[in-house]
Amino acid sequence: MPQGENPRERAGQTRPVQCRECTIFIGEDYQEKVPIPAPDGKGVVCWRCYESLVRTAERQATQSER
Ligand SMILES: [Zn+2]
Repeated sequence: MPQGENPRERAGQTRPVQCRECTIFIGEDYQEKVPIPAPDGKGVVCWRCYESLVRTAERQATQSER
């Protein structure tokens, strides 16, 4: 458990998270409801950014094979 967290947020409240790529909030009350772990494991992203990241990663993987 990280230090300095608001105790109210720990008590069962879902805290909105921010998409790493486009910085929109993701959570119950927001347009995006489900945060998706980023493909590279750093933070979370919204669905649209996830798709675009996966596509970018696939393209890079194909290129690095050559
Ligand atoms: Zn996003």
